Amino acid sequence: MEDNDNDDDGDGNSAGNGEEDGDNDSDDEKDDEREDIGESSTPGRQRQRRAQPSWLKAAFTRVLIECNLRGNRSQPYLYSKGTFWCKPPAAYFCLGAEPTTPTSLYRPRFFVWDPQSLYKQLSCPACGQVLIRHSAISRAGQVIGFESSFWLTGYRYHCRHCHHVKPRKQSATWRSWDRRILAALPAQLASEFPAHLSHRNGMSKPLFAWMRSCFQNGMRAKQFSDAIRVQHLLRYDTLHLQYLDRVAMDSWMGKQYKLFLKFDGTSDEGFNGFVPSSQWFRDIYDNFIEDHRAEFNQHMGKLTGEICAIDHSHKITEHVAKVNGERVFNGLLTVTNEFGEIRSCNLAATKAQTQFELALTRMRESLEFYGHNQPEFFYTDGMADKSFLESSFPSLRRGITPIEKYGHLKPFVLPSDVQILVRNKISSINTALSTIIAKIPIQDEPNLVIGYDFEWNIAISENGKHERGEIAVVQITYEKRVYILQVNTVVYSEYGR
Ligand SMILES: [Zn+2]
Repeated sequence: MEDNDNDDDGDGNSAGNGEEDGDNDSDDEKDDEREDIGESSTPGRQRQRRAQPSWLKAAFTRVLIECNLRGNRSQPYLYSKGTFWCKPPAAYFCLGAEPTTPTSLYRPRFFVWDPQSLYKQLSCPACGQVLIRHSAISRAGQVIGFESSFWLTGYRYHCRHCHHVKPRKQSATWRSWDRRILAALPAQLASEFPAHLSHRNGMSKPLFAWMRSCFQNGMRAKQFSDAIRVQHLLRYDTLHLQYLDRVAMDSWMGKQYKLFLKFDGTSDEGFNGFVPSSQWFRDIYDNFIEDHRAEFNQHMGKLTGEICAIDHSHKITEHVAKVNGERVFNGLLTVTNEFGEIRSCNLAATKAQTQFELALTRMRESLEFYGHNQPEFFYTDGMADKSFLESSFPSLRRGITPIEKYGHLKPFVLPSDVQILVRNKISSINTALSTIIAKIPIQDEPNLVIGYDFEWNIAISENGKHERGEIAVVQITYEKRVYILQVNTVVYSEYGR
């Protein structure tokens, strides 16, 4: 636990604190040590976080003291200089100070986020009443940047009208970087917040934007994480070199200097360098995409689709998580438009067309909704899609005369004297077939003509593929009789399969 003395804001706003019991402040500080900097975690997942090194805590305390010197309209003095950033001097100027130590070169950057001091109407996300500043958050939040991390300094805002979820606590406080607080700010102010927050850390917005470009251009999370690590190491190495060069100047004096510790050394004087795993970068990207799903869908829904191409892919579904070893999705259906833009993208459990029908119906509706023309052409590598596409998009049939081989013939109608006989028992099936077998011609007699067809059940194999199963129905047409032999009932009932 940190020993913190920043409970007093040093301004008139502390009046509201009177409503709280004495434990409150220390409870909030425990939360700061324990909880995530982003969304609050579920109680069961709370873990004590690793203690921050003293050089960071000392720098953080200096920032807090500076921020408690409130200037105009009780804003942090920093803001009167037109910045949210508390930046350290350049490494060169740190080198001059005596005694030169590695920690003097670490020079953490801080971002001071107290939006309530700039926007006094900031209201409680829960009840809409005006919030007041309560205390500084006792632990700086780490945000990963291009070549180094920076640290968030924030405040807790207090609502006098809401009660905390924990029964012992009398009132609710909100962190200034809580996404609900950010959402309640005017966009011009909220846009200044420099990070995307995950559960435990954050990522700077420029780095995040760069990650999106990298992912969109084929770089994978692992390579991205490695590349960012290289950038961080490069900055560390430069500092190391500057330190050694400074030390070398005095070496003739026989002075002793401290060792410049390793990049990821976690001792109290260690550099404590940290670059998250590829999974962390991937998660923060995925969360962003999920948060903006509605916008992406709307953007896709506004695109045109006059000349389309439809394609089924089965590669991506191999990488989608399996449930009990079974693949959940079998294929991905993608429709692209005349500009090569994705117009529809849907995962489906089977290759059956009904799986995609809804996606295509929605596409037709959105084209109509945004006043676009309906599709005129569809490219596909499976002609089996033809009738399904035509039923989803009636515009495809407009002005088309189908060229079919027997198009001029009238549809066939079963003559009224033809009997349809359904058989589903071994004996009746055998009787039906024996009447035909009896007519099998011996040599030199006219040929026997019968029509037949089969229907199958669908079976799902062990690897999740849909295959043709047992024969279920046999249709045999002979003379004026159509036999429908339901052999599946025989197979299941009489052979117990
Ligand atoms: Zn409230």
